Amino acid sequence: MTVSDGFFQPVSGMDLPRFAGVPTFMRLPSVPPEHARFGEVDIGLVGVPWDGGTTNRPGPRHGPRQLRDASTMIRAENGATRVRPFERVKCADLGDVGPNPADLQDTMERVTAFYEKLVDAGIRPLTAGGDHLVSLPVLRALAKDAPLGMVHFDSHTDLFKSYFGGTMYTHGTPFRRAVEEGLLDQKRVVQIGIRGTAYDFEDRDFAAANGIRVIPIEECFARGWADVMTEACEIVGSAPTYVSYDIDFVDPAFAPGTGTPEVGGPNSFEALSVVRTLADVNIVGADLVEVSPPFDATGATAYLGASLMFELLCVMA
Ligand code: MN
Ligand code: MN
Repeated sequence: MTVSDGFFQPVSGMDLPRFAGVPTFMRLPSVPPEHARFGEVDIGLVGVPWDGGTTNRPGPRHGPRQLRDASTMIRAENGATRVRPFERVKCADLGDVGPNPADLQDTMERVTAFYEKLVDAGIRPLTAGGDHLVSLPVLRALAKDAPLGMVHFDSHTDLFKSYFGGTMYTHGTPFRRAVEEGLLDQKRVVQIGIRGTAYDFEDRDFAAANGIRVIPIEECFARGWADVMTEACEIVGSAPTYVSYDIDFVDPAFAPGTGTPEVGGPNSFEALSVVRTLADVNIVGADLVEVSPPFDATGATAYLGASLMFELLCVMA
């Protein structure tokens, strides 16, 4: 399929230099839900500027704006796979979900309501976070009818039961809640790159007891990424699958601008390469979360984040 409609093409650096103009995601047209052409969009890029689930160093609420700016560096064609996503599907920047920074439950309801509009319009979302709690209200909209599989890149499982005794909604708990709420088919969930120090192994015990496949970083490097990703693709199969990418999956030498960095991770080339293996997965939505501009002194994390969003877009297209 070829998109001939010029409206859905990004502004080319040949027409307006990439440092000029109002920054939207990848220089795509701005098409909020009230726009007349909203219903034509195939893949919608959405910002969720919210870090109300953050338990340690904050800042991902500033992620979408920084990712939009960095994403103006992205050109039309993938240099590795030769995919030209904007010619395959109609893409647009759908804007930000307006959070209520003082109310966690209200914000999650706002996020779910926004994504329900996308589901109703047949739009697949590519989300820029925000912290990882953002994924939960997104999944509530996308998995309304049936649980999804998930490929999850992260240093952390985000499968913990709670924090401080009874706090159930943080960026360390979204996928525990998602399993409990029937949003994920746990036999079709794979978590890749897990590492770092821990308070305890309660999350890993939950994963083991529920059939969730956790692939720690030691196993990734011992087996090699191609082998690990072949297994990941087999686990999710051909049924509808969500892809969730926490930037702290990447080694902090390459992505220091995040709240909970863990050393000993993949480099930026490996970080991009693993996404390219998902071309045959049935991806119904994806996110890139936990970019924290206040800790991103050089902007390198945001640029890697924007590049990862482009890789995700290419395999979704
Ligand atoms: Mn995470
Ligand atoms: Mn993480």
